[in-house]
Amino acid sequence: MKIAVAGCTGRMGLTVVKAVLARDDMTLVAGSRPTGFDNEAAKAQLVLADCHGLSVTSDPKELMAEADALIDFTYPEVTLSHAEAVAEKGAIHIIGTTGFTGGQQKRLETLSEKATIVQAGNFSLGVNLLAQLVEQAAKMLDENYDIEINEVHHRHKKDAPSGTALLLGRAAARGRGVKLEEKKAVDRSGERKLGDIGFSVQRAGGVVGIHDVTLAGENEMITLSHQGFNRKIFADGSLTAALWAKDKKPGLYSMRDVLALS
Ligand code: NAD
Repeated sequence: MKIAVAGCTGRMGLTVVKAVLARDDMTLVAGSRPTGFDNEAAKAQLVLADCHGLSVTSDPKELMAEADALIDFTYPEVTLSHAEAVAEKGAIHIIGTTGFTGGQQKRLETLSEKATIVQAGNFSLGVNLLAQLVEQAAKMLDENYDIEINEVHHRHKKDAPSGTALLLGRAAARGRGVKLEEKKAVDRSGERKLGDIGFSVQRAGGVVGIHDVTLAGENEMITLSHQGFNRKIFADGSLTAALWAKDKKPGLYSMRDVLALS
């Protein structure tokens, strides 16, 4: 399978580049970077990853010229510009980028009529298993158990709450048979409403990602927790998704589909 990597010198982009180079069932064919980006710095990072022969471009069409699949952990507007080129080719788009607005998400849905898109707020096996456990716990414990989701990420993260926290919130809402949009509590001033699904956020140092989901009753509390030690968990999950998508029809899929979780 021929892989292109969007934002190939970013934190996740470079991790994906290294993960592809370490496999023999995939070939790295191209990477993208922003226009005006310091070319020498980009080259230096790619030399470190031992792929200085890689074709690096700012043009999404050129990026997709040879590729079967694009792995994309960038920014929402960048992912959308790349998504147009992927759809035009009818190729595979693995989207790890988070923080899309409602309008941007709708555009991705439209483009998924032509492209096979797998989109996930978190590509790690552990977090997707955690989401299953959260759904089950939320189903078994009624509204008298308050659900709170706390997340910690590195100081450079742009969106909040994280895509993973929202993914866990949606799992809790599914368990409760409610819509997250109607129960999501982000502004924490005032008294807690019964049935709210609350979010709290910390941004600190170099933390790759910590997510805790607490279900607290009057006299007892359960906490389900996940910690990522290394970004490789997301890169490996995104490559598993790309292989899975190979024989799938165009559409918008999630890691739940890839991992065959109910
Ligand atoms: P980052 O800022 O290190 O990387 C983004 C890269 O995109 C940068 O290298 C930047 O130069 C590049 N870029 C900007 N404009 C571009 C353009 N026009 N063309 C090509 N490249 C361009 O960020 P990061 O920490 O790697 O995170 C990226 C995204 O991935 C965020 O939304 C983050 O929340 C998300 N993320 C998702 C998961 C997951 O499992 N779904 C895991 C980790 C991070």
